[in-house]
Amino acid sequence: MSFILSFEPLALEPREHAEAGGFVSFEGKVRNHAQGRSVILLEYEAYPEMATAQGNELVEEAMERFGLLDARVAHRLGTLNIGDTAVVVQAAAAHRREAFEACEWIMDQIKWRVPIWKRETYADGVSEWVHAGSAPAEPHSDQIRFERQMRLPQVGDVGQTNLQNARVLLVGVGGLAAGSLPPLVGAGIGAIGLVDADLVELSNLHRQTLFASSDAGRQKVERAAAFAKRLRPAIEVETHFEALSETNATRLVDSFDWVLDGTDSLDTKFLLNEVCRKLGKPLVTASVHQFEGQIMTILPDGPCLQCLFPEVPPDHCVGTCATSGVLGVVPGILGAMQANEVIKGILGLPTLDRQLALVDLLTLDVTRLERIFNPKCPICSGSERSSALEWDLQHLPTFDFDLIDIREIDEQPNLKRPHQRIPMTSCYEQTFVRPTVFVCATGRRSFRLAANLRAAGNRHVFSLLDGLCNPALK
Ligand SMILES: [Zn+2]
Repeated sequence: MSFILSFEPLALEPREHAEAGGFVSFEGKVRNHAQGRSVILLEYEAYPEMATAQGNELVEEAMERFGLLDARVAHRLGTLNIGDTAVVVQAAAAHRREAFEACEWIMDQIKWRVPIWKRETYADGVSEWVHAGSAPAEPHSDQIRFERQMRLPQVGDVGQTNLQNARVLLVGVGGLAAGSLPPLVGAGIGAIGLVDADLVELSNLHRQTLFASSDAGRQKVERAAAFAKRLRPAIEVETHFEALSETNATRLVDSFDWVLDGTDSLDTKFLLNEVCRKLGKPLVTASVHQFEGQIMTILPDGPCLQCLFPEVPPDHCVGTCATSGVLGVVPGILGAMQANEVIKGILGLPTLDRQLALVDLLTLDVTRLERIFNPKCPICSGSERSSALEWDLQHLPTFDFDLIDIREIDEQPNLKRPHQRIPMTSCYEQTFVRPTVFVCATGRRSFRLAANLRAAGNRHVFSLLDGLCNPALK
């Protein structure tokens, strides 16, 4: 048994382990104040079986995660006085670093995962439950915490509730995440997922300011989770110490509402684009290069990354931070812009969903380019049909297009779907930037028009099969 609950004062003997170069023992004590109030007594209560099961699972996880030689936890239950030991954590490892890290990790995880409830009695005689499992109830402090942003008419009670119900996944916990994580946690996002297989390196720290120098060599996801918990203890944080891949992408993305791409791998960006489209999740992707960055928001019904770049460029075509260099502040700013997109999206405010923003941080110029559906995009169309001249409306992808009735103005009946009416002859005088579907009585005139316009360089024009007789128009 490596997780012990006890109603008696705790006394764990240090254990010997011949291979252990580091043995860390931590004791958590009851102190005489909490959040400005004078504490005189403390009680711990738990469902012992559930708490022991969770606790043992956690210690086993720590053993594996930090390669420990030994680990034990003892936690008090019942009534404790000031100065009593509430919890003891012991960890033995080959080196001191693993032992220290494991000890800290176990303490954090106990607070978040093990169902032990704490009741404080204050000097004025009042008693309160102050911690209930992973989500301490702090309704009043939340009111104070979010007061300034809830004043905004665009946020208010409803917006704040939406933020608190939202689950956001950060793929890549580096420089972009250093910009996006603090404002997301600060804004009150309910749950954050962190995916990254890397350890903190000294050369990361000029831009990855979530981490401290002492974090070098430690898991990025773990340190970022600790940052988030410090900023807002009530936040739920999931860590995945693994790289996103074709095998795990769907599993990792599935339970989240929004996804932030904070990687510098093109393969990962295209994979996320595909998986998010398949699962109907909005994705905010960004990349940085020296003094510049670009950012776009890809909504499930908008043009995707591959509409813009139909072919996945090989990773070596684009420099990464490691090869081309980057000013530390650049990913921070782009990351903050990503958080801004997510927060706006959750609040129902306009996002960069059909645009690509190019941000030059030397000149502070922001150039926004329109993004449109590419009928040849393998992700959005899922078939060759969209590149064909003729479309059958029943099988159209769900994306946005303009429908134009090209019959003469006096021809009846009128279309029941929203559309514009531009007679065929006038269509020849126009350029069609957005995907456009032409309709006529039988599909013959529209076919001829689309074919001619394509020949003249309009790539996104289509003819509706069978014209007014197409069942989708009934
Ligand atoms: Zn696409």
